Amino acid sequence: MPELPEVEVLVRRLAPRLNNKTIRRVEVRRARVLRPTRPAELNRALTGAHFVGVARRAKYLTFTLRQAGGGGTFLLLGHLGMTGRMFLQPVSAPLPKHTAVALDLGGENFVFEDTRYFGRFTLDTSTQDRLGPEPLGDEFTLEYFIHALRRSRQAIKVKLLDQSLVAGVGNIYACESLFRAGVSPRLPACELTRALTERLRNALRTTLAEAIDFGSGVALDWPGQGEKDGLFYYGRAAGAPDCEERLCAYDRQGQPCPVCRTPIRRIVQAARSTFYCPRCQRS
Ligand SMILES: [Zn+2]
Repeated sequence: MPELPEVEVLVRRLAPRLNNKTIRRVEVRRARVLRPTRPAELNRALTGAHFVGVARRAKYLTFTLRQAGGGGTFLLLGHLGMTGRMFLQPVSAPLPKHTAVALDLGGENFVFEDTRYFGRFTLDTSTQDRLGPEPLGDEFTLEYFIHALRRSRQAIKVKLLDQSLVAGVGNIYACESLFRAGVSPRLPACELTRALTERLRNALRTTLAEAIDFGSGVALDWPGQGEKDGLFYYGRAAGAPDCEERLCAYDRQGQPCPVCRTPIRRIVQAARSTFYCPRCQRS
């Protein structure tokens, strides 16, 4: 499942290819991903509009478009859900079987493909109102984090997945950040000391920034026809390194901790798997 770094890498990849491109034709094959926007509404808004910006907010892609005829700008939101992909392909190439939406940009189609249709491609921006600060942004200060954790008895691992606390952190990077900070995933949020909170904030930022750097430098196969590696789920291009080998705790149950060799343990918290080192993460 794509998390913040995977979406950020995709945004950086798409921005130079989409900016200034005009949408000539809109083809909606799975109206479900648009909801609550209706296909006719999307068609009307997008046809003739052009991309002026591609950015990321939490796990959303935010496309800024300028209306046809030089009118005002508006937002189109994309979310990859569990299995979504976004990529460009020549208009001459047949659209993939699970294409949800395709935008004809002239020489190329911008394709949103989603085999399970949990993703989003919509004009509805109401989901953005409830999001907390970006973990890599200036608003995610130590004082904010301390204040937000102080009020909760939830286990810190579960709390980190709360998108209104900090936006874009998912299961993989919550586990990895707690490992890096040496914090037990079961510790109630309100029991983190100031020093531990600072360590966890730094670990979150470093872990996410490293993953973005790594993904920006590795050859990926965007339509996802290549080798799967479980992390950069677009699929890695032939010969590219295995991204999953970078992970210390996530999905490594029973394997030795890279620091102390104790087997990594798996527990279930709020119906999600948590992976941690029982020796390194005792705080
Ligand atoms: Zn360890």
